[in-house]
Amino acid sequence: MKSKVYIETFGCQMNVADTERAATGLRKAGYELTASAEAADVVLLNTCSVRERAERKVFRRIGEIRNEAKRAGRQKKPLIGVMGCVAQLEGETIFQNSPAVDLIIGTRATDRIPSLIERARGGEAAVIDLDERQEGEVWDVSPAERRSPYVAFVPIIEGCNKFCSFCIVPYSRGREKSRNALEIVNEVQRLRSLGYKEIHLIGQNVNSYRPKSQEGLERYSGATAFSRLLRAVADTGMQRIKFTTSFPRDFHTDIVSALEECPNLCDWIHLPVQSGSDRILKAMRRGHNSEDYLRRIDAIRSSKRRLSLTSDIIVGFPGESEEDFENTMRLVRACEYDGLFIFKYSQRAGTPAATLADVVPEAEKKARFIALEGLQESMQSKIYNSYVGRTVSILVEKESARSSEDMTGHSTCHKVVNFRSRKSQPGEIVDVLISQAKPYSLYGELMSKQAN
Ligand code: SF4
Repeated sequence: MKSKVYIETFGCQMNVADTERAATGLRKAGYELTASAEAADVVLLNTCSVRERAERKVFRRIGEIRNEAKRAGRQKKPLIGVMGCVAQLEGETIFQNSPAVDLIIGTRATDRIPSLIERARGGEAAVIDLDERQEGEVWDVSPAERRSPYVAFVPIIEGCNKFCSFCIVPYSRGREKSRNALEIVNEVQRLRSLGYKEIHLIGQNVNSYRPKSQEGLERYSGATAFSRLLRAVADTGMQRIKFTTSFPRDFHTDIVSALEECPNLCDWIHLPVQSGSDRILKAMRRGHNSEDYLRRIDAIRSSKRRLSLTSDIIVGFPGESEEDFENTMRLVRACEYDGLFIFKYSQRAGTPAATLADVVPEAEKKARFIALEGLQESMQSKIYNSYVGRTVSILVEKESARSSEDMTGHSTCHKVVNFRSRKSQPGEIVDVLISQAKPYSLYGELMSKQAN
């Protein structure tokens, strides 16, 4: 009988993509993937370390899995492996803090998981791999392991060289490494032939894409390798192409030109700013100031195409004064974001910002969070209301959680749209006439199905 592996994924879309890759490799190596930890011979936790809370959750989960196995009276306890960012950061210490763990699999060891499991199954204790990826690794993901049969994540770069002072990612994911463009284009072509309707080119900073060779980009012009890649991927004919996340300093206006030239590049840009205060941006070591950022926003806003813009902001970074926060409010007013992810700063051990004094009191952080959220909601309400009476193209994802009469999906500008329809099916692209704007979604009626 085949051994069963269960993978539980925490954190961002890079982890989701790694889980899909890990599952593909395991299945190829003869393992069966299961959706239940109780039924598994091997349990892998693909972890996130962005916040310490997320890290603690993993250790709680290990305890739960061990106790469940004991309660069920299983003769042979499952092998437990920690993979992902916590594994890479904590390394050996995980074995000391949590003796139930048998395997530690770093962020660049995804392809070696089957052989690591074999070693643990063969009786080797405390198996650990924190090494680099090997040259020529295969990034292919089998369709059976993808989360959705219509929307696929395609990693184009991993790691980060930016070292923002609050962020642990450069330590957990290592330096930036870009995938070969031809390989990416081939993967998108394959996904298209399998019936995928939308792909997300993903990476910590997609627009920092710098492959070692020009292979696959030769026929495409552009000011940066990323804007050339966008044109190359658009040329595959994939119906909808989104990309996230972009880094302000590397955001060349040629990206906007590519979006104007290629209608299948979706009208959504996620460009995190983190703060509107130059003093705080400097303390965050972001490598841009508010003026640089606003210049990029101007280029986005002056595009021929109406581009949807979203961002991330941290409030209460150490030393953030009332005036700094006011500058953030001012920047948000100027940018007119379609959506904003607001985070209260929380200290992350191991990052330079964790040593900064002048901590903003929790109550103050909360007050700033509420003030910024209020501002964003009032601005967002105007933007969402401007969609009423317009027809938008939606990729249908599933039945709405609120009503069995309604379906739900995302627009090309990445807004959630619910709509009345009994006729549309998940995976179809449809036109929806928007009749109502809600705070975080749109509502409408099915107009027509597009040729899919
Ligand atoms: S750009 Fe900054 S915030 Fe983003 S992953 Fe890199 S270090 Fe973290």
